[in-house]
Amino acid sequence: MEPTKAKTDPARIHRSDPGHPDICPVFAYHQLFRKENVDEIHASCSQGSIGCKDCKQIAGSAINDLLTPFRERRNQYEQRLDEVKEILVEGTRQARKVARETMLEVREAMGIRYFDL
Ligand code: SF4
Repeated sequence: MEPTKAKTDPARIHRSDPGHPDICPVFAYHQLFRKENVDEIHASCSQGSIGCKDCKQIAGSAINDLLTPFRERRNQYEQRLDEVKEILVEGTRQARKVARETMLEVREAMGIRYFDL
C-alpha cells in the first residue's frame, strides 16, 4: 500500500491537531513493525507534534526494512527458477507419499480398505 493513501485518524484535519493513535491503522503498523519507537509516536501523535505524512513514512520505512531480506531472497530465487522447480517437484513427491500413507490409515480405520491400491 502506498503510505500516503493509508487511512488515519479522521479527526486529525490539521497537522497540529491532537491525534488518537489507538484508532489509527497506521499506528497499528508502528506497534507491529517499529516497537522501539511506539511510545514516542503515540505521544507525538497525541500532542499533534508529528504529521500523518511523516508518521506514515516512518511506518513504511520500518515495513520496508523488514521486507528487504525477503525481497533479496526472492530475487535470488528468481535467478534460479530451474532449482525452484526441482524443489517444488521434490516437495510434491514427498507430500504425495505422506498423503498416500495417511489415506491408507484412514481407510483402514474406517473399514473401507477394499483394495490395496
Ligand atoms: S500521526 Fe500517525 S498515528 Fe497519528 S493519526 Fe497520523 S498516521 Fe495515525
